[in-house]
Amino acid sequence: MLQLAIYGIITLVIPVLTADLLIFNANIYTVSSRRAQALAVRDDKIVAVGRNEEIRKFAGPKTQIEDLHGKTVLPGFIDAHMHLVSVGLRESGYYLDLSQARSLREALELVRARVQQTEKSQWVLGRGWDESRWPERCYITRADLDKIAPDHPVVLVRVCGHILCANSLALQKISVTSRAGEFDEALGLLREETAWDFLKKLQPSDEQIRAAILAGVRLAHRLGVTAIHDIAKPEHVRAYTVLHQVQQLKLRVRLNVEAQHLEHLVALGLRTGFGNEFVKLGAIKFFADGSIGARNAALSKPYRDLTPVPFPKGEGLGERSLGKLNYEQSDLNRLVKRAHDHGFQIMIHAIGDRAIDAALEALAYAGATAAHRHRIEHAELLSDSQIARMRELGIIASMQPNFLQWSGPGKLYEMRLGPERDAQIDPHRKVLDAGVQLAFGSDGMPFSPLYGIHCAVNAPHPSQRVSVEEAIHAYTLGAAYAGFEENLLGSLEPGKLADFIVLSEDPAHSKNISEIKIEKTYLAGQRVFGYDNSI
Ligand SMILES: [Zn+2]
Repeated sequence: MLQLAIYGIITLVIPVLTADLLIFNANIYTVSSRRAQALAVRDDKIVAVGRNEEIRKFAGPKTQIEDLHGKTVLPGFIDAHMHLVSVGLRESGYYLDLSQARSLREALELVRARVQQTEKSQWVLGRGWDESRWPERCYITRADLDKIAPDHPVVLVRVCGHILCANSLALQKISVTSRAGEFDEALGLLREETAWDFLKKLQPSDEQIRAAILAGVRLAHRLGVTAIHDIAKPEHVRAYTVLHQVQQLKLRVRLNVEAQHLEHLVALGLRTGFGNEFVKLGAIKFFADGSIGARNAALSKPYRDLTPVPFPKGEGLGERSLGKLNYEQSDLNRLVKRAHDHGFQIMIHAIGDRAIDAALEALAYAGATAAHRHRIEHAELLSDSQIARMRELGIIASMQPNFLQWSGPGKLYEMRLGPERDAQIDPHRKVLDAGVQLAFGSDGMPFSPLYGIHCAVNAPHPSQRVSVEEAIHAYTLGAAYAGFEENLLGSLEPGKLADFIVLSEDPAHSKNISEIKIEKTYLAGQRVFGYDNSI
């Protein structure tokens, strides 16, 4: 009887279940299955995807109906490796953005202009310079900055975040606690931990962080991004939580927390997955090495070039250097295992082949299997045997296709590593062919999935190149998998959250994918961005 009653209710209820929003005449990449023409949304979820005539029956008197005239629809992009606050601080003007400077001269001009608009003795903070794109091919130095800013303390962080340049006044105001080989006082250059400790003393306020997040979220919507796996510091976690509580956080943020905070999380009994559909605790992040740009990614064979401005020799970073591992293997093993044993997903930043070996050893020691979905971030100088090992241990490759901007003849990676290793770097094709799960992210360099997809599809070396569909998969469902969310996000199918975007062009037929415009962005069934400001 009870069953009959339930069936009775279901048959009564189904015909009146109409959609809030219906999209039709679209070219929909569902990602999980075939293309579709139409989809129906109710509340924050997709209720149906299919052909126009199948979906039309979900229309009711209050349904908002949109004819897309053949435009392309994708799931909202999920950026699997982001630093939103850092990008947002540039968007909000807290940092001067130097990423577009095409020469040292141009970068210094930008700094000079900012200095002129800034009251004397106030800080001028910049980010994003990249000497590998400049004809001068040399780092910014203290002397460069002293010339244009004798009365302002200036600090400029390199695009990779692993090096910064400070002028004399900045070094006077904040004393440097240097670790071996990480500070060249004459040149005003600081690396790694020494640089990060220095920056800690120049922290933005909570209010500035919240403003940066809101600016970053607006940018995300313009780029078609509806979810990110962020690398979040405690003050960022605080800001995200506050914004979510006042219902202003219109982005799904997975908070990946640096390993130094592990014991606090363990003590609280928190683990990966704690949270809700907007703010959720992600992985514990370890740094196994630095970056190729900063010349401290850990390699098994030495760097080929001289650093543009050499750091003191004999400290592991001069000519013929192998870069640097940040942990003793036994320490990395112990810490990774501790996080693993307490229910945390692990993400290990490992760029050089020696760092990737260290990461794989630590993950194997912890007992990694596919069920744990541990991740290696960047995994740049990846060998065939390492790819095979990742497959065995079920490790996800969380890679940044936009890093290919530094690969190819005459580019940074070739300069640093030589042509042979340049051809080995970022092997997305091999990763997929080996059956390793691939997630794409941007690392904010720049924050732009379409640019990343463009790079992956047009990569300089065959082992790097993937198809448009594969690249989209890695930036949607692949990233969702890396966040244990493939049942919620990453594809357009019934039951999933209604996060999707409308593009000006189909990437499969576009001459330049990076120039495609995002026309609309929907989050949880609500339009959060329209190129014509129609929201
Ligand atoms: Zn990063």
